[in-house]
Amino acid sequence: MAKITLNGIEREVEENSYLIRAAARCGVHIPHYCYHPALKVEGNCRMCSVEIEGVPKLQTACTTIVRDGMVVNTESEKVVKVRSEVMEFLLRNHPIDCPICDQAGECGLQDYYMEHGLHDSRVTVAEKVKKKKRVDLGPNVVLDSERCILCARCVRFCKDVTGTAELVIANRGSHAEITTFPGRPLTNDYAMNTVDLCPVGALTSRKFRFKCRVWFMERAESICPGCERGCNIYLDRFQNEIQRMKPRVNPRVNGYWICDAGRLDIDWINTNRLLRAEEGGRPIAPEESDREAASALSKGDEVLLVASPSMSNENLFALKKFSEKVLPGSELVGGSFREPWEDDGILRLPDRNPNRKGMEAIGIPTGIEKALATSRGTVLLFENDLLGDQPHLGAKLEGKKVIAFASNRTATVAAADLAVPVTSYAEMAGSFTNHAGRTQPFEPAIRPEGEARPVHEILHRIAAFLGSDLNAASFDALRSEMLEKVSALSMAVPDGREAEHVG
Ligand code: SF4
Ligand code: SF4
Repeated sequence: MAKITLNGIEREVEENSYLIRAAARCGVHIPHYCYHPALKVEGNCRMCSVEIEGVPKLQTACTTIVRDGMVVNTESEKVVKVRSEVMEFLLRNHPIDCPICDQAGECGLQDYYMEHGLHDSRVTVAEKVKKKKRVDLGPNVVLDSERCILCARCVRFCKDVTGTAELVIANRGSHAEITTFPGRPLTNDYAMNTVDLCPVGALTSRKFRFKCRVWFMERAESICPGCERGCNIYLDRFQNEIQRMKPRVNPRVNGYWICDAGRLDIDWINTNRLLRAEEGGRPIAPEESDREAASALSKGDEVLLVASPSMSNENLFALKKFSEKVLPGSELVGGSFREPWEDDGILRLPDRNPNRKGMEAIGIPTGIEKALATSRGTVLLFENDLLGDQPHLGAKLEGKKVIAFASNRTATVAAADLAVPVTSYAEMAGSFTNHAGRTQPFEPAIRPEGEARPVHEILHRIAAFLGSDLNAASFDALRSEMLEKVSALSMAVPDGREAEHVG
């Protein structure tokens, strides 16, 4: 550790760390654009200039290594003046088109101008250098060259993180701009992280462009269900619709990034949902569907329960309890495993099932093929579209009574004797256990539409019709019981570093 004096206060910081980071750990925010904790330092924007005793010129805090005895001032008159001048320089050719910019409300230029700029422009709009306003860099990212402040975060990301190096800065002076090489668009699988990294509105997401002003949105902390990595995410909502998915920093899981495939896979939450229970295609009330399911299960036929590795731990635990306590003669297996994809060496892992590890910990075996082949009677499918995803297994449902518990309309739902709407992960609290055995909670981002309910609540109601108390109506009580009985699922305690987001 090193002792430094920061704005007159003596602090103990990690020796040999960058000053901008050491200051952030002491709660002192040094304004910056080009610096990002997950990228190589470059020191090109000069916004983090600070005064160091004994050094004649201002130094950039992002490139300065902390030394014992250093006396640093981040708020001196000289620093404040230089920051304002840097802001004026960056805004010299900026179009100031905030009213139509997607970044407005979360823009580094807006925020720092209000804190450190507040100068009057000395140039007219006519004098500003004009550049291209809509450049398709790739399928998902759009560039507005006029808004770019040339911090090069996007360039460094593609060079050092994905290793694809699609972006470069071309030309010189006020004509410098971000571009791609001819015939090599921005197509890497993580390209949309450049939109998050861009501190201004130069890079925008094609999917989110002009969709919603950011100050109207609220966000929930969630976990991506795209693969077994379990990336930490925010789900941003407006008017009870998911508008976008953003990475949530977690150095132990996904760092600062998420992959584009996971990020873009949100439309199914907002569309094609099963909103009401249906019996043979006819809408029925939730009470009636619970009673119907109970009546089908009370006939004494063989019952096969098929769980999915995309269900939350809490729902899987309730289902296990249901099979043991309410239907002791039933068989419970896991099914609906998604086809693997390739491990890309960055975040994406081959197993696309977000909760296979949780299912294993709870003790639900695999083996749907065999179970379906031998089962007679009634089959309860939980988030399993056998007819759509695995038609060879779906064919084995013929002649059986099928009750489908599903969030979306699928081929299996259409063919089921009884279809019961359930909440997606975005509409309920729960947890997934990732490839490393880390159990991570998520919270509801939107209210359930229609009559969808969490699986554990539905099972509780069906059990009540069958004369049993499943004790699964309350989510909190269910989770406590699960944590008590399945020690492998103890919740990951957030790491202190997760809060240290100075990007
Ligand atoms: S496009 Fe954004 S991230 Fe890239 S250099 Fe310009 S301001 Fe920086
Ligand atoms: S790597 Fe996996 S968990 Fe992470 S964002 Fe992509 S699909 Fe989602």
